Amino acid sequence: MSEGLTAEQEMIRDAARTFAQEIVAPRAAEIDRTHDFPADLVRRAAQLDLMGIIVPEEYGGTALGHLAFAVYVEEVAAVSGALAVILDVHSSVGTEPIVDWGSDEQKRRYLPRLAAGEMLGAFALTEPESGSDAASLQTTAERVGDRYVLNGTKTFITNVGVADLYIVMARTGGPGARGISAFLVEKGMKGLGFGQPMHKMGLHGSPTGEILLDDVEVPEENRLGPEGAGFKVAMKALDSGRIGISAQAVGLARGALDLAVEYAKQRVQFGQPIIQFEGIQFMIADMATAVDAARLMTWDAAAACDAAEPFTLLASMAKLFATDTAMTVTTDAVQIFGGYGYIKEFPVERFMRDAKATQIYEGTNQIQRIVIARELLRGD
Ligand SMILES: Cc1cc2nc3c(=O)[nH]c(=O)nc-3n(C[C@H](O)[C@H](O)[C@H](O)COP(=O)(O)OP(=O)(O)OC[C@H]3O[C@@H](n4cnc5c(N)ncnc54)[C@H](O)[C@@H]3O)c2cc1C
Repeated sequence: MSEGLTAEQEMIRDAARTFAQEIVAPRAAEIDRTHDFPADLVRRAAQLDLMGIIVPEEYGGTALGHLAFAVYVEEVAAVSGALAVILDVHSSVGTEPIVDWGSDEQKRRYLPRLAAGEMLGAFALTEPESGSDAASLQTTAERVGDRYVLNGTKTFITNVGVADLYIVMARTGGPGARGISAFLVEKGMKGLGFGQPMHKMGLHGSPTGEILLDDVEVPEENRLGPEGAGFKVAMKALDSGRIGISAQAVGLARGALDLAVEYAKQRVQFGQPIIQFEGIQFMIADMATAVDAARLMTWDAAAACDAAEPFTLLASMAKLFATDTAMTVTTDAVQIFGGYGYIKEFPVERFMRDAKATQIYEGTNQIQRIVIARELLRGD
């Protein structure tokens, strides 16, 4: 692991590593097999103060920042991609928008409970007909007196059904980005329903699915940010959210690399451990180099974010590189395991399935290239 962390960041890394290796790792294969949401592990993360890292201290968080957050998410993802995405979405896109945009009253009402893990957060932007083109979303929020009435369907929502608070983007005005507002929708509000969990390739145990909004009455005080600012709320959330996704990807790649190295030391063919073959050594060298580069890019974006410097470009580049690295490295890890890599008794195929999602969510890697090019063309 690269150096340069503060004492506090090292403390988080050590706490997260112990949690991941001793408590999560023994459960990871079972979570993948049963698809069960690991509620007890989420509670444990909360007890370890890992769920409020981005929340200011005055609202019950530890305010350790995005670099500490990236370090923690990497440790969890190195053993369980599913738990990593549950915890990442909760803190980043599920909580941070309230830190950035919430009124004092909203912050007091929600942040302490989110930081303590008493509430789990979720973020609902995607719809069946609007994914990458998020500004074309169709869910409506019609103002009636001092409330908004929300109607529509959100899809692919992480933590669906198990989350207590959903940041929902809906249309309050005309077409395009400026007609969108953000809302804090609580589980239990009348008219809020959930579809069946989607059957995914990987990340089993992290529930993903539809949110059904049928005349959900949301009080005006639950609008997050000004009317018409919902697209900005979402884009800002995704900007810093991509640091978390990059960290997930680094963790998945590192976890698969460690497994591959261990296996290569033990598997004997042609009378010697396969790690003695130059062909395998070169694969491992390339994998380790890519993991380290991905981590440095992730930390660079996180450090810029913590220093309140522009970081959109850095976060998009980190997301693009780290998630492509996760896919390449986990695929190569399966290759190093040979036939055993392709069967479920060995853990590497899970890392490969989990890694694929990181290239898709919080902006596909095609969209990251668009963001990167736009930032470069802007030239400031
Ligand atoms: C496991 C998982 C969890 C998710 N969790 C959440 C969540 O919690 N909240 C949430 O709101 N969403 C979530 N999503 C949704 C995710 O963000 C979207 O799937 C993603 O943004 C892509 O949208 P889409 O699936 O509609 O694909 P589309 O936008 O239809 O894209 C299809 C293909 O076209 C490409 N493409 C699209 N536009 C362009 C373009 N302009 N130039 C070049 N190529 C383009 C895309 O890159 C992709 O390859 C999740 C998705 C998954 C798989």
